[in-house]
Amino acid sequence: MRLVEKAFRQLFPDKEFSYTDVLEYSGRFKGFNANARLNNLTKTITFSLSKNWKGVDEQIKIGLVQSLLLRLFKKKARTVNMDLYDNFIKNLHIAIPKTKSNPVLEESFNRINKLYFAGMIDRPNLRIGKPSARTLGNYDYGTDTITISSLLVPHLDLLDYVMYHEILHKKTKFNSKNGRSFHHTRQFKQLEKAYPNSKELEQKLGRISSKRKILFSLF
Ligand SMILES: [Zn+2]
Repeated sequence: MRLVEKAFRQLFPDKEFSYTDVLEYSGRFKGFNANARLNNLTKTITFSLSKNWKGVDEQIKIGLVQSLLLRLFKKKARTVNMDLYDNFIKNLHIAIPKTKSNPVLEESFNRINKLYFAGMIDRPNLRIGKPSARTLGNYDYGTDTITISSLLVPHLDLLDYVMYHEILHKKTKFNSKNGRSFHHTRQFKQLEKAYPNSKELEQKLGRISSKRKILFSLF
């Protein structure tokens, strides 16, 4: 049985698998990103996976495909393979080479790591992003990379605060329930609030970007 059909039957044992499926590897994606699209006319589901997925164990790939299927059909479920997939994503950072850095971000990372994480966090890749006011910071599990908007570089206090937020993502990871992932959990928000002067810093961030969204991204 093909991988997609196997994933589908395990997820929906009572349903007929009446689709054509395409699974393709693409160089367009960074890290371990992937997506799925359904063409309702041809009843074709196309899975596009970053080419980094090529050598990954089939059981983990089944978990990925199941997570994408749940999102596609807006259904809830949980399987052993999805647990395998989550753990794979959560542990990726250990094996990913750290090739990108930047002196300003590295100093900020070292400061925050020392002050609030007892120096226990391994340095991720660090990069300065576009001058985006919408996405001020981002942590990508698939490449173990923290990206900070260049708009924050002149504001060391804000840079440190957003760095703290992104390191929290690397540290706390995410919780999964019914095939959905939760990143800004109650525990996360409590830890975020514990940062000195977090209220004032939030206001200051609001002045830089009114529509701001400190994003994390996986897909
Ligand atoms: Zn976040």
